[in-house]
Amino acid sequence: MRKTLSVAVVLLFACALVARADEAVVRPVVPAKVADKDRIENWTGKNVLVFTPHPDDDTFMCAGTMEMLAKHGNTVRIVIFTNDNKGSKDEQMTRERLAVIRRAEEEAACAVLGIPKENLTWLGYEDGDLEYANPQRLRGEVCRLIKKYRPDAVFTLDPGEEYVRWHKTDHRMAANITKDAFIASEWQLYYPQHLLDENLHGYSVPVAYYYYTTSPNYAVDITPIVEDKIKASNKHVSQFSPSLEKYTPEMSEETYQQLRAEGLKQMKDRDKYVEVFRREELP
Ligand SMILES: [Zn+2]
Repeated sequence: MRKTLSVAVVLLFACALVARADEAVVRPVVPAKVADKDRIENWTGKNVLVFTPHPDDDTFMCAGTMEMLAKHGNTVRIVIFTNDNKGSKDEQMTRERLAVIRRAEEEAACAVLGIPKENLTWLGYEDGDLEYANPQRLRGEVCRLIKKYRPDAVFTLDPGEEYVRWHKTDHRMAANITKDAFIASEWQLYYPQHLLDENLHGYSVPVAYYYYTTSPNYAVDITPIVEDKIKASNKHVSQFSPSLEKYTPEMSEETYQQLRAEGLKQMKDRDKYVEVFRREELP
Protein backbone atom coordinates (compact mmCIF):
# COMPACT_ATOMS: atom_id res chain seq x y z
CA MET A 1 0.00 0.00 0.00
CA ARG A 2 3.00 2.38 0.10
CA LYS A 3 2.37 5.23 2.45
CA THR A 4 4.15 7.95 4.28
CA LEU A 5 3.13 8.46 7.86
CA SER A 6 1.05 11.53 7.16
CA VAL A 7 -0.67 10.09 4.11
CA ALA A 8 -0.81 6.62 5.54
CA VAL A 9 -3.03 7.41 8.42
CA VAL A 10 -5.52 9.07 6.14
CA LEU A 11 -5.55 6.11 3.77
CA LEU A 12 -5.34 3.60 6.53
CA PHE A 13 -8.91 3.51 7.70
CA ALA A 14 -10.17 5.97 5.23
CA CYS A 15 -12.10 4.89 2.24
CA ALA A 16 -15.52 5.09 3.79
CA LEU A 17 -14.65 8.07 5.87
CA VAL A 18 -15.12 11.77 5.62
CA ALA A 19 -13.21 14.38 7.58
CA ARG A 20 -14.77 17.39 9.22
CA ALA A 21 -12.86 20.39 10.39
CA ASP A 22 -12.97 19.38 14.03
CA GLU A 23 -12.83 15.61 13.80
CA ALA A 24 -12.80 12.71 11.41
CA VAL A 25 -15.98 10.70 11.48
CA VAL A 26 -17.32 7.66 9.76
CA ARG A 27 -19.65 8.47 6.90
CA PRO A 28 -23.24 8.11 8.09
CA VAL A 29 -24.49 4.61 7.47
CA VAL A 30 -28.04 3.96 6.31
CA PRO A 31 -28.29 0.48 7.74
CA ALA A 32 -29.35 -2.46 5.63
CA LYS A 33 -32.30 -4.36 7.07
CA VAL A 34 -30.74 -7.53 8.44
CA ALA A 35 -32.41 -10.06 10.76
CA ASP A 36 -30.55 -10.68 14.01
CA LYS A 37 -29.72 -14.26 13.05
CA ASP A 38 -28.12 -13.06 9.82
CA ARG A 39 -25.94 -10.42 11.44
CA ILE A 40 -22.31 -11.52 11.35
CA GLU A 41 -21.95 -10.34 14.94
CA ASN A 42 -24.14 -13.31 15.93
CA TRP A 43 -22.47 -15.92 13.75
CA THR A 44 -20.68 -18.96 15.07
CA GLY A 45 -19.33 -22.00 13.24
CA LYS A 46 -19.37 -20.29 9.84
CA ASN A 47 -16.77 -19.96 7.10
CA VAL A 48 -15.64 -16.55 6.01
CA LEU A 49 -13.33 -15.79 3.10
CA VAL A 50 -11.53 -12.45 2.90
CA PHE A 51 -9.87 -11.30 -0.32
CA THR A 52 -7.18 -8.63 -0.15
CA PRO A 53 -4.99 -7.20 -2.92
CA HIS A 54 -2.04 -6.60 -0.57
CA PRO A 55 -1.03 -8.00 2.79
CA ASP A 56 -2.35 -5.01 4.74
CA ASP A 57 -5.65 -3.88 3.21
CA ASP A 58 -7.48 -6.65 5.05
CA THR A 59 -5.98 -5.56 8.36
CA PHE A 60 -6.65 -1.87 7.86
CA MET A 61 -10.26 -2.33 6.77
CA CYS A 62 -11.48 -5.55 8.42
CA ALA A 63 -9.21 -6.46 11.36
CA GLY A 64 -11.76 -5.84 14.08
CA THR A 65 -14.48 -7.77 12.26
CA MET A 66 -12.11 -10.64 11.47
CA GLU A 67 -11.03 -10.89 15.10
CA MET A 68 -14.64 -10.82 16.28
CA LEU A 69 -15.58 -13.60 13.86
CA ALA A 70 -12.58 -15.73 14.89
CA LYS A 71 -13.36 -15.22 18.58
CA HIS A 72 -16.94 -16.35 18.01
CA GLY A 73 -15.79 -19.69 16.62
CA ASN A 74 -15.96 -18.92 12.92
CA THR A 75 -13.21 -19.87 10.49
CA VAL A 76 -11.64 -16.83 8.84
CA ARG A 77 -9.48 -17.48 5.78
CA ILE A 78 -7.64 -14.75 3.92
CA VAL A 79 -6.57 -14.79 0.28
CA ILE A 80 -3.78 -12.34 -0.60
CA PHE A 81 -3.48 -11.55 -4.29
CA THR A 82 -0.01 -9.98 -4.43
CA ASN A 83 3.25 -10.19 -2.52
CA ASP A 84 3.38 -6.37 -2.12
CA ASN A 85 7.06 -6.36 -3.04
CA LYS A 86 7.46 -2.89 -4.54
CA GLY A 87 6.19 -0.50 -1.88
CA SER A 88 9.42 0.68 -0.32
CA LYS A 89 11.50 3.80 -0.86
CA ASP A 90 14.54 2.23 0.79
CA GLU A 91 17.16 2.06 -1.96
CA GLN A 92 18.87 -0.83 -0.19
CA MET A 93 15.67 -2.89 -0.38
CA THR A 94 15.11 -5.65 -2.92
CA ARG A 95 11.83 -7.07 -4.18
CA GLU A 96 12.71 -10.50 -2.85
CA ARG A 97 13.47 -9.23 0.64
CA LEU A 98 10.42 -6.99 0.74
CA ALA A 99 8.11 -9.87 -0.18
CA VAL A 100 9.49 -11.84 2.79
CA ILE A 101 9.03 -8.83 5.11
CA ARG A 102 5.48 -8.18 3.98
CA ARG A 103 4.52 -11.82 4.41
CA ALA A 104 5.91 -11.89 7.95
CA GLU A 105 4.10 -8.64 8.81
CA GLU A 106 0.77 -10.03 7.58
CA GLU A 107 1.28 -13.22 9.57
CA ALA A 108 2.13 -11.19 12.67
CA ALA A 109 -0.96 -9.02 12.22
CA CYS A 110 -3.17 -12.09 11.79
CA ALA A 111 -1.65 -13.68 14.90
CA VAL A 112 -2.86 -10.67 16.91
CA LEU A 113 -6.36 -11.31 15.56
CA GLY A 114 -6.31 -15.02 16.35
CA ILE A 115 -6.04 -16.11 12.72
CA PRO A 116 -3.33 -18.73 12.15
CA LYS A 117 -0.98 -18.40 9.20
CA GLU A 118 -2.30 -21.72 7.88
CA ASN A 119 -5.51 -19.81 7.06
CA LEU A 120 -3.67 -17.53 4.65
CA THR A 121 -3.52 -18.30 0.92
CA TRP A 122 -0.90 -16.38 -1.05
CA LEU A 123 -1.63 -16.17 -4.76
CA GLY A 124 1.83 -14.64 -5.24
CA TYR A 125 1.24 -12.05 -7.96
CA GLU A 126 3.77 -9.26 -8.27
CA ASP A 127 2.86 -5.99 -6.59
CA GLY A 128 1.34 -3.53 -9.03
CA ASP A 129 0.99 -6.11 -11.77
CA LEU A 130 -2.35 -7.72 -10.91
CA GLU A 131 -3.97 -5.83 -13.80
CA TYR A 132 -1.63 -7.59 -16.18
CA ALA A 133 -2.32 -11.11 -14.99
CA ASN A 134 -4.37 -13.33 -17.24
CA PRO A 135 -7.92 -12.44 -16.09
CA GLN A 136 -9.43 -15.78 -17.02
CA ARG A 137 -6.81 -17.67 -15.06
CA LEU A 138 -7.02 -15.28 -12.12
CA ARG A 139 -10.81 -15.53 -11.99
CA GLY A 140 -10.40 -19.30 -12.06
CA GLU A 141 -8.07 -19.21 -9.05
CA VAL A 142 -10.56 -17.14 -7.06
CA CYS A 143 -13.44 -19.30 -8.24
CA ARG A 144 -11.62 -22.47 -7.19
CA LEU A 145 -11.07 -21.14 -3.65
CA ILE A 146 -14.72 -20.16 -3.35
CA LYS A 147 -15.80 -23.65 -4.45
CA LYS A 148 -13.27 -25.24 -2.11
CA TYR A 149 -14.09 -23.27 1.05
CA ARG A 150 -17.80 -22.58 0.32
CA PRO A 151 -17.87 -19.41 2.43
CA ASP A 152 -20.98 -18.19 4.23
CA ALA A 153 -19.71 -14.68 3.49
CA VAL A 154 -17.03 -13.10 1.36
CA PHE A 155 -15.25 -9.90 2.29
CA THR A 156 -13.66 -8.05 -0.62
CA LEU A 157 -13.21 -4.60 -2.12
CA ASP A 158 -16.27 -2.74 -3.33
CA PRO A 159 -16.34 -2.81 -7.14
CA GLY A 160 -19.18 -0.27 -7.08
CA GLU A 161 -22.91 -0.63 -6.75
CA GLU A 162 -24.49 0.88 -9.83
CA TYR A 163 -21.27 2.01 -11.46
CA VAL A 164 -17.76 0.67 -11.25
CA ARG A 165 -15.87 2.76 -8.74
CA TRP A 166 -12.29 3.84 -9.15
CA HIS A 167 -9.59 1.97 -7.27
CA LYS A 168 -5.82 2.13 -7.37
CA THR A 169 -4.04 -0.52 -9.38
CA ASP A 170 -4.27 -4.04 -7.91
CA HIS A 171 -7.31 -2.87 -5.94
CA ARG A 172 -9.26 -2.42 -9.21
CA MET A 173 -8.47 -5.90 -10.38
CA ALA A 174 -9.05 -7.51 -6.98
CA ALA A 175 -12.45 -5.80 -6.69
CA ASN A 176 -13.68 -6.75 -10.14
CA ILE A 177 -12.21 -10.22 -10.42
CA THR A 178 -13.63 -11.36 -7.08
CA LYS A 179 -17.09 -10.18 -8.03
CA ASP A 180 -16.76 -11.87 -11.41
CA ALA A 181 -15.72 -15.07 -9.66
CA PHE A 182 -19.01 -15.14 -7.74
CA ILE A 183 -20.80 -15.82 -11.01
CA ALA A 184 -18.18 -18.25 -12.28
CA SER A 185 -18.41 -20.19 -9.01
CA GLU A 186 -22.16 -20.57 -9.31
CA TRP A 187 -22.04 -21.96 -12.84
CA GLN A 188 -19.70 -24.90 -12.86
CA LEU A 189 -19.25 -24.92 -16.64
CA TYR A 190 -17.12 -21.76 -16.40
CA TYR A 191 -14.33 -23.94 -14.96
CA PRO A 192 -15.43 -27.57 -15.36
CA GLN A 193 -11.94 -28.83 -14.53
CA HIS A 194 -12.54 -27.95 -10.87
CA LEU A 195 -15.17 -30.68 -10.73
CA LEU A 196 -13.29 -33.12 -12.90
CA ASP A 197 -9.92 -32.73 -11.20
CA GLU A 198 -10.81 -31.95 -7.58
CA ASN A 199 -14.51 -32.79 -7.19
CA LEU A 200 -15.27 -29.14 -6.43
CA HIS A 201 -18.92 -28.41 -7.06
CA GLY A 202 -20.52 -25.12 -8.03
CA TYR A 203 -21.26 -22.77 -5.15
CA SER A 204 -23.27 -19.58 -4.76
CA VAL A 205 -21.84 -17.04 -2.35
CA PRO A 206 -24.84 -15.92 -0.28
CA VAL A 207 -23.62 -12.54 0.94
CA ALA A 208 -20.72 -10.16 0.38
CA TYR A 209 -19.33 -7.44 2.61
CA TYR A 210 -17.43 -4.85 0.59
CA TYR A 211 -14.73 -2.72 2.17
CA TYR A 212 -13.14 0.39 0.65
CA THR A 213 -16.72 1.34 -0.09
CA THR A 214 -18.24 4.74 -0.74
CA SER A 215 -21.73 3.59 0.22
CA PRO A 216 -21.57 1.65 3.48
CA ASN A 217 -24.78 0.18 4.84
CA TYR A 218 -23.39 -1.99 7.62
CA ALA A 219 -21.31 -1.00 10.62
CA VAL A 220 -19.60 -3.41 12.97
CA ASP A 221 -18.96 -2.10 16.47
CA ILE A 222 -15.36 -3.04 17.24
CA THR A 223 -15.01 -0.90 20.36
CA PRO A 224 -14.05 -3.73 22.74
CA ILE A 225 -11.23 -4.89 20.45
CA VAL A 226 -10.15 -1.65 18.84
CA GLU A 227 -6.74 -1.73 20.54
CA ASP A 228 -6.13 -5.13 18.96
CA LYS A 229 -6.85 -3.60 15.58
CA ILE A 230 -4.34 -0.84 16.25
CA LYS A 231 -1.79 -3.43 17.34
CA ALA A 232 -2.40 -5.57 14.25
CA SER A 233 -2.27 -2.57 11.92
CA ASN A 234 1.01 -1.45 13.43
CA LYS A 235 2.55 -4.85 12.72
CA HIS A 236 2.81 -3.61 9.14
CA VAL A 237 5.89 -1.65 10.15
CA SER A 238 7.44 -1.36 6.68
CA GLN A 239 4.33 0.37 5.33
CA PHE A 240 4.93 3.46 7.46
CA SER A 241 7.56 6.14 7.74
CA PRO A 242 10.34 6.04 8.75
CA SER A 243 10.59 2.31 7.98
CA LEU A 244 9.13 3.01 4.55
CA GLU A 245 12.21 5.07 3.62
CA LYS A 246 14.83 3.13 5.57
CA TYR A 247 13.68 -0.27 6.64
CA THR A 248 13.71 -1.11 10.31
CA PRO A 249 11.70 -4.00 11.72
CA GLU A 250 10.73 -2.12 14.87
CA MET A 251 8.25 0.72 15.25
CA SER A 252 9.14 3.47 17.69
CA GLU A 253 6.74 4.20 20.52
CA GLU A 254 6.29 7.70 19.12
CA THR A 255 5.24 6.40 15.69
CA TYR A 256 2.98 3.79 17.30
CA GLN A 257 1.20 6.45 19.33
CA GLN A 258 0.83 8.76 16.32
CA LEU A 259 -0.71 5.99 14.24
CA ARG A 260 -2.90 4.92 17.12
CA ALA A 261 -4.29 8.40 17.61
CA GLU A 262 -5.05 8.86 13.92
CA GLY A 263 -6.53 5.39 13.61
CA LEU A 264 -8.85 5.90 16.55
CA LYS A 265 -9.96 9.23 15.14
CA GLN A 266 -10.79 7.73 11.77
CA MET A 267 -12.77 4.83 13.22
CA LYS A 268 -14.75 6.90 15.69
CA ASP A 269 -18.50 7.06 15.29
CA ARG A 270 -19.92 9.05 18.21
CA ASP A 271 -19.28 6.85 21.27
CA LYS A 272 -18.07 3.80 19.31
CA TYR A 273 -15.32 2.61 17.01
CA VAL A 274 -16.60 0.92 13.89
CA GLU A 275 -15.67 -0.77 10.64
CA VAL A 276 -18.07 -0.17 7.80
CA PHE A 277 -19.02 -2.23 4.77
CA ARG A 278 -21.50 -2.36 1.96
CA ARG A 279 -23.46 -5.53 2.56
CA GLU A 280 -24.97 -7.21 -0.47
CA GLU A 281 -27.12 -10.32 -0.49
CA LEU A 282 -26.34 -12.03 -3.76
CA PRO A 283 -29.16 -13.29 -5.97
ZN1 LIG B 1 -3.50 -2.25 -1.10
